[in-house]
Amino acid sequence: ATQITLASRPQGKPSTDNFKLQTATLPAVQDGQILVRVICLSLDPYMRGRMDDAKSYAKPVEIGEVMEGGAVAEVMESRNTDFKPGQIVVGAFGWTSHAISDGEGVRVVDPEQAPISTALGVLGMPGITAWVGLNDIGRAKDGETIVVSAATGAVGGVVGQLAKARNMRVIGVAGGPEKCAFAVEELGYDVCLDHHDHDAKSLSAAIKDAAPDGVDVYFESVGGKTLEAVLTRMNTHGRIALCGMIAWYSGQGVADAQPLPAVWRNILTRRLLVEGFIIFDHYHKFPDFVGQVAPMVADGTVKFREDVAEGLENAPQAFLDMLSGGNFGKQLVRVGAD
Ligand code: NDP
Repeated sequence: ATQITLASRPQGKPSTDNFKLQTATLPAVQDGQILVRVICLSLDPYMRGRMDDAKSYAKPVEIGEVMEGGAVAEVMESRNTDFKPGQIVVGAFGWTSHAISDGEGVRVVDPEQAPISTALGVLGMPGITAWVGLNDIGRAKDGETIVVSAATGAVGGVVGQLAKARNMRVIGVAGGPEKCAFAVEELGYDVCLDHHDHDAKSLSAAIKDAAPDGVDVYFESVGGKTLEAVLTRMNTHGRIALCGMIAWYSGQGVADAQPLPAVWRNILTRRLLVEGFIIFDHYHKFPDFVGQVAPMVADGTVKFREDVAEGLENAPQAFLDMLSGGNFGKQLVRVGAD
């Protein structure tokens, strides 16, 4: 198998030197196991956290270990009664061309339902994150106003469209004019603000113009100046679905962040409900999510855009680019033929 391992831990911003491309011989398949050939690898912001040796909700990748990651793959050999050769599956196979798995957490994908890569995006982990975050965590109500950060990304793109389908006023924040135009023209956002054009103060003013009645729900994925700006526009009893804080994942900008007392005061005086969530806690809702959103993908209510890097060897660079907004849509890596 061709694999990418963690070569060293990044100090601040990661670089390609933190990764190593290697080949390894896989052991023979044992009873209960399957051998898969990876077709498509998902790159996700959480992988930045796994590169650090820090206590979090999941354990870090060790130096020399294959990088963690979800992937769509074909079963080549099976000694597990739940899987048959030729089936397409999705699971945490890692940054690798081939993998052996005991089948835990592996799901069969129906190629008739939607393109198989959507099992990593709109109908996979990012999609259910959007759906749970909007409905259960953000407690969105029809007609309310929502701000969505990373508005065209894998998660944000789905949040915006689901919110629109609920007749909400939907304001996106994204990086660059192309992404903002796409958010409005293709995804149906009412307004999309380009954070490259603003500091926190002017972004706050722009949100005020876009949301004259204030903001009821903030779908928070970025932190930084976007969070700072939205906090000052939240309505009384507003909700913040705290999904991520990518602007701070590598420690940049932390020193310039708002002091905690100012943030705390906003939460108090506006009586905000701020709830962090990790999507693994909600995977029992997967059938409900797919039941509701797969038809919306099939009929075009929910569109998706993918950004595909070619070849496993290009995964590290594509991952670094994604952390700074280089991706336009769900970031994938094509590892093998369909
Ligand atoms: P995206 O496809 O949205 O890609 C990441 C995007 O983040 C970039 O394209 C960029 O968009 C934006 N970004 C990067 N740096 C900054 C910055 N400094 N300021 C503002 N925006 C920035 O990734 P995902 O949809 O996969 O993930 C989005 C967020 O959701 C992440 O924070 C991720 O960790 C989180 N997440 C959390 C989960 C959970 O269980 N809680 C599960 C899945 C995802 P732009 O160019 O528009 O700025």
